[in-house]
Amino acid sequence: MKLPPFEYACPASVAEAVALLASRPGEAKPIAGGQSLVPMLAFRLAAPALLVDLRKLADLRKIAIGADGVRLGATVRWRDIQDEAALGTAHPLLKAAIAHVAHYQVRNRGTVGGSLAHADPAAEMPGIAVTCEAEIAVAGPSGARNIRATDFFLGPLTTALALDEIIVEVRLPAWPARRRWGFHEFARRRGDFAMAGAAVFYDEADGKAANAHVGVIGVGDRPQRLAAVEAVLNGQPVDAATIARAEQAASATVEPQDDIHASAAYRRALVGTMVERALKAASA
Ligand SMILES: Cc1cc2nc3c(=O)[nH]c(=O)nc-3n(C[C@H](O)[C@H](O)[C@H](O)COP(=O)(O)OP(=O)(O)OC[C@H]3O[C@@H](n4cnc5c(N)ncnc54)[C@H](O)[C@@H]3O)c2cc1C
Repeated sequence: MKLPPFEYACPASVAEAVALLASRPGEAKPIAGGQSLVPMLAFRLAAPALLVDLRKLADLRKIAIGADGVRLGATVRWRDIQDEAALGTAHPLLKAAIAHVAHYQVRNRGTVGGSLAHADPAAEMPGIAVTCEAEIAVAGPSGARNIRATDFFLGPLTTALALDEIIVEVRLPAWPARRRWGFHEFARRRGDFAMAGAAVFYDEADGKAANAHVGVIGVGDRPQRLAAVEAVLNGQPVDAATIARAEQAASATVEPQDDIHASAAYRRALVGTMVERALKAASA
């Protein structure tokens, strides 16, 4: 289908982009990779009067790795993450999760900021942001602010971002070298959105898990951390018995809905299996 008509602007700075959005309250939208927005335009699910293209904002296309963690600029593409070898040690969980995003063509264009702003409950990047307690830095007409990922996602395709704000970067806290982690998801075809997925990590002290983080995607209206599963893990050796209890806790905690792809009961069972497999990988 052809897109509805729109005006187009391609600003050269974040300030200019924000000013353009603010100049047309509620009628302007940023466009980054276009991999979610263009289909939405085609299906008339969105019809902004003005598209503000972020592609010239070179400062937003940076991956910075430092003692304080990893900072991904908003227009960093999935392909950039896959190509950045240093992320293999600086944030292996991120790298493993992003390998599941879509297909080669989509990964060449889709961006970190676009995915966070789009807020698909089954998307990997929002799931990693929530699991890892990331902060999302945004810029708006009244200046900059940081939003915790757990406060950012409000529901399907709904975030705490104001209409005249853009995401500038996402900050993932530092990743200790000996941390244990796993990521597992199930999609009907490789590259499809996950029907359910789990990201887990924990640190080890005296052979027992500490600081456990368990996040899931595809089983609710937004990515979520499962405190009940983390409580099962913390202070315990991550052995077969603990993993079995974690699996049960995951299935019991989530509240998915029936939809055209699967029943709620199926997704509840599936997410337990995803947590189990991610934990087996982490403990191995
Ligand atoms: C066939 C197909 C399969 C896919 N499979 C997956 C998958 O398995 N997992 C997955 O996670 N994703 C998947 N995607 C989505 C893909 O990852 C998108 O690229 C991503 O969701 C949006 O990124 P984008 O840069 O293309 O954003 P765009 O489409 O340009 O924008 C999406 C939304 O974000 C807003 N936006 C963009 N950038 C910013 C910013 N910096 N600040 C504020 N708002 C902004 C736009 O206004 C729009 O509302 C798939 C897409 C396709 C077409």
